[in-house]
Amino acid sequence: KMHNDNVANYTLDEKVILVTGAGDGIGKEAALTFARAGATVILLGRTTSKLEAVYDEIVANGSPEPAIVPLDMKGATFSHYQGLCATIIEQFGRLDGLLHNASLLGVLSPFEHIDHGNWHDVMQVNVTAQFLMTQALLPALKKAQHASVVFTSSGVGRKGRAFWGPYSVSKFATEGLAQVMADEYEGSSIRVNVINPGATRTAMRARAYPAEDRNKLKTPADIMPTYLYLMSDASLDVNGQSLDAQ
Ligand code: NDP
Repeated sequence: KMHNDNVANYTLDEKVILVTGAGDGIGKEAALTFARAGATVILLGRTTSKLEAVYDEIVANGSPEPAIVPLDMKGATFSHYQGLCATIIEQFGRLDGLLHNASLLGVLSPFEHIDHGNWHDVMQVNVTAQFLMTQALLPALKKAQHASVVFTSSGVGRKGRAFWGPYSVSKFATEGLAQVMADEYEGSSIRVNVINPGATRTAMRARAYPAEDRNKLKTPADIMPTYLYLMSDASLDVNGQSLDAQ
């Protein structure tokens, strides 16, 4: 087993980590967890009130003061991400971690009825925005002694499934983007890996499986060891992996 299940075993002291979709679900838990481990967390998401609630909780925990970046990745352009990079370098000097967590489930439907606008939105948020953001943030990532970029996949990003249309295709693209980057940056200060969270108790999961008993699902907190591991120096030699969260 590559990593230890005890979250107390990882420190993120002095690290600056950006989490997308940090207002809810797995991203919220990751932001709280990284902050508790000592990181200064940059909270990016589209609903400011949710980001503010996470900010307050981090400060109340006595963790390093986070930063808030309200941004809708559906409409954001490369220049928004370049501005973000400049702000990060100005305020923090570097970016040690980037967790691409935000994504859109979109509409589950038969292939024949996939809505073209929905296809485009899911690809934009889940693939194109993540590519643009990562490329724009490279100057900040390169200023870190070691930088960890983590993408979020899904079971349907490894094996296609009926009715999961654009979401499934977007997660295959996520795995592909991560593999291309990992191969290219192998041996550099930047490592790139993927987490498949598995079925987890969040609003997105409830939308995809409205009839299931959500109390039987693992919680976001249950899967944090893998997130901490990939952000910490314990994974310095890990690159190009796609891990199932545990
Ligand atoms: P949630 O829908 O609960 O949370 C997603 C977060 O991303 C929300 O905070 C949401 O903001 C934010 N977000 C969505 N669209 C945008 C956008 N356009 N711009 C900025 N932020 C945005 O999802 P989960 O926590 O369940 O999922 C997190 C990741 O894990 C996703 O990549 C998902 O695909 C993946 N995953 C989840 C599984 C599960 O069982 N939960 C299983 C497999 C993979 P807002 O709060 O404003 O809506």
